[in-house]
Amino acid sequence: MAIEIRTASALGFCFGVRRAIEMVEGAADAKGPIDSLGSIVHNPVVAERLQSHGVDIVSGFDGVSSSAVAITAHGAGPEVYRRAASARLDLVDTTCPIVARAQRAARRLVNSGFKVIIYGDEHHPEVRGVLAWTRGRGVVLADAADPVEIPRRKVALLSQTTKSQHAFTEFVSRFLALHIDRINEVRVINTTCPETEDRYAAARELAREVDLMIVIGGRNSANTGKLAGTCRAAGVETRQVEREDEVQPAWLEGRRVVGVTAGASTPDDSVAAVIRRIRQLDPAARRREETSRAG
Ligand code: SF4
Repeated sequence: MAIEIRTASALGFCFGVRRAIEMVEGAADAKGPIDSLGSIVHNPVVAERLQSHGVDIVSGFDGVSSSAVAITAHGAGPEVYRRAASARLDLVDTTCPIVARAQRAARRLVNSGFKVIIYGDEHHPEVRGVLAWTRGRGVVLADAADPVEIPRRKVALLSQTTKSQHAFTEFVSRFLALHIDRINEVRVINTTCPETEDRYAAARELAREVDLMIVIGGRNSANTGKLAGTCRAAGVETRQVEREDEVQPAWLEGRRVVGVTAGASTPDDSVAAVIRRIRQLDPAARRREETSRAG
């Protein structure tokens, strides 16, 4: 019997990533080369495609050689806007609207005297950008038990957009349980991304129905990694790949149903290529081909 391939009901590019790619490709096609301050999305396949449109990735202003720079979907802090303006560079701002909402909340809350606490990974560009909008009055915590100063008894809790709602809820309740005696006022802003949440839920559901999950996405993509973690937590064997040629024939031996999902920065082409590769490597299909060649 041939392997049945099932795809998650929500997978691949989210609207923020699609929008960012369209904006930067359109701007590069219309106006010429653009230097992107970091990867527009964390996916090497997309990075190569953008390069063919004249979009180069640079790690900072020192590497900029074009007259236009792009801010990625992950957003950036106020300093980046200031530097682009003072260098008279054209700015293509592809900050995802959901990230921009978190940035605005961070700025508004520090202006109202809150200590802003961001639940997330301090090294992630989105988190660094949101933190920068707190102008030194925010902090990033990866765990609710991490040490934190609460000088003015007013605390606002935000989340990295790609954290699951479940993880953020746990963070908030543990944080409050640990620190409520030092807090008079608390604001919780749910800055998790519904698109990411849909992908986690769809992956979780699909993981229950299959013998193997293949998760497609850049190895440096945080949400692809978390998607793979979600599938593993559901108890199914899970493999993460960036490209179709990483799918190994041995993974498919003895499988009846294989599930496929993809991170929010994975293009549709990559998903289609992985599905094609699974069909090609399907042991039943290969046996059929060998039989027909022998016949
Ligand atoms: S995952 Fe969500 S927050 Fe991140 S770019 Fe996509 S839509 Fe925006």
